Amino acid sequence: MRSFQQIPELRTHLNALREEKLVIGFVPTMGALHDGHIALIRRAVTECDRTVVSIFVNPIQFGPGEDFDRYPRDLAQDSRICQEEGVDALFVPAVGEMFPSADGDGPAESPTRVHVPALEDILEGAARPGHLSGVTTICAKLFNIVQPRRAYFGQKDYQQLIAIQRMVADLCMPITVVPVATVREPDGLALSSRNVYLSPEERPRAVALSAALKEGERLYAAGERNADTLREAVRDVLVRAGLSAIEYIEVADPRTMVRLNHIDDEAVLLAAVRIGALRLIDNVLLGITLNQHLRRL
Ligand code: AMP
Repeated sequence: MRSFQQIPELRTHLNALREEKLVIGFVPTMGALHDGHIALIRRAVTECDRTVVSIFVNPIQFGPGEDFDRYPRDLAQDSRICQEEGVDALFVPAVGEMFPSADGDGPAESPTRVHVPALEDILEGAARPGHLSGVTTICAKLFNIVQPRRAYFGQKDYQQLIAIQRMVADLCMPITVVPVATVREPDGLALSSRNVYLSPEERPRAVALSAALKEGERLYAAGERNADTLREAVRDVLVRAGLSAIEYIEVADPRTMVRLNHIDDEAVLLAAVRIGALRLIDNVLLGITLNQHLRRL
């Protein structure tokens, strides 16, 4: 595996691969890699000739007062994981490489931003102003640098996945976006780099988020199609578990993310809660599998 900090060197390396007609797969991450990231990497390594992983804690997707400075970073361990998983190239740019106008290591404003307006003011977009365009902007930049044929994203960050799919389609980027199912702990908690912030007291409560969504899944499987009923059932499980800081519980169209009152056939059920200083998000698909979802988008 080769490691790159500079854009021109990575480009030279990847241009040579493209000349050999090799299919390049790309997994963008913020590092502190866990089994969720590894699932994306394994899928890419299986489906592509060469896999590129980027590790970049992207300042423009963090809001003021969020955890940019404290975000977990462990490059030595991440590098070992990528090497073991058969990654061809690891791209670890400094903030100044991605944002030449940046002031030191601090959050930088990108002069040009990519927006997906339909998704920016709802759910994660509403809770974290600027976050979603921070993600689409950095992914557009990384896509232009890496020029992958396929790019891998987790279902865990569902709205981000849909925003990237929309951006790629709307801007005619020649990239297939591949969604990968959420990897969970045995008790259901979705893996996240930020789970390390959970204290031993908070950890059992965090499980209630996936349990609540599972209850929604159970009701849907039993025939419930009223979105309010599903939202209330999810809320009940969360509140009973002592999770009262609920940011949203939503039932939405899985492609547009528009709120649904009634589920005709398929939906995505999403929730965001706060536990102490930590914000947890999770989602489940109802009436549609991730593979069907990929085909129909
Ligand atoms: P992050 O490093 O948190 O920006 O995540 C990088 C990629 O890994 C994104 O596409 C995430 O959706 C994905 N990811 C994070 N956690 C999980 C998980 N538990 N299961 C599957 N994919 C994940």
